Amino acid sequence: MKTALMFSPHADDAAAFCGGTLAKLAAEGWNVVLARVTDDARDSVGLTVEETIRRNTEELHAAAQALGIGEIVELGFPTDTLTDVAETILRERFVYLIRKHRPYAVFTFDPFAQGEGNLDHIRVAQAVEEAFWVSCFDLHHPEHFTEGLEPFSVCERWYFGRPVSNPTRAVDITDYFQKRVEALAAHKTMMRNTVNQFRLQLRTWGRRAPLLDEALAGDLTPLVTGFLHAQTSATAEAHSLGEGRLGEEFRVVRFGDMEEFFEQISEPI
Ligand SMILES: [Zn+2]
Repeated sequence: MKTALMFSPHADDAAAFCGGTLAKLAAEGWNVVLARVTDDARDSVGLTVEETIRRNTEELHAAAQALGIGEIVELGFPTDTLTDVAETILRERFVYLIRKHRPYAVFTFDPFAQGEGNLDHIRVAQAVEEAFWVSCFDLHHPEHFTEGLEPFSVCERWYFGRPVSNPTRAVDITDYFQKRVEALAAHKTMMRNTVNQFRLQLRTWGRRAPLLDEALAGDLTPLVTGFLHAQTSATAEAHSLGEGRLGEEFRVVRFGDMEEFFEQISEPI
């Protein structure tokens, strides 16, 4: 059984960016593990920090269940402040998880994407990119080996973003679209905060959107469905997945320029 290890800066990133693909892999028999890096302690509207943490954690478990994620690892760093954490501290935690879970593939934001403005996303992406090679070194964090772990290399890095820079793979997630909607709509607390941010910006512009007011007061599913359908159908069209199909795109990195060379000189174990 292959393992996919998703490094999720925040609780909602899997559902918001790559949930269809994770659900598809889980349905195909992969063991999908989600490492949530921060505590999402401030991502809410009108709640206390304690209540925000409680709800966001509970809602992540509901979303993970919808996607077929088998395990959630909580790293608990304070949210929206990861730039205050040394990259090497994050990297050590990621190396540990890579050595422990031995994933065939890791998922996270593209460390080289141009359009990413969230510094937690950038920090996690950079630390994952470095953890990828540091996890192979037996002189990096040898303290991990005392509990039986070994140097380990991930085979594939699946990077997503807004947008992905130079995507190399599009996954048809049509059959898993509803699971992604269910997962993202489960993040009620974080989605309401997102909706509220747009409301405040619109107010400054001098406008209002009844659809956002309705979503804030009640069911988020119609808004989430509309947003995700527009996004995934545009991706499917860009990659010619077929009429009416829905897709998610990634920059999948394996051996880079050495890919062809290793295909020629290698054989199955
Ligand atoms: Zn995020």
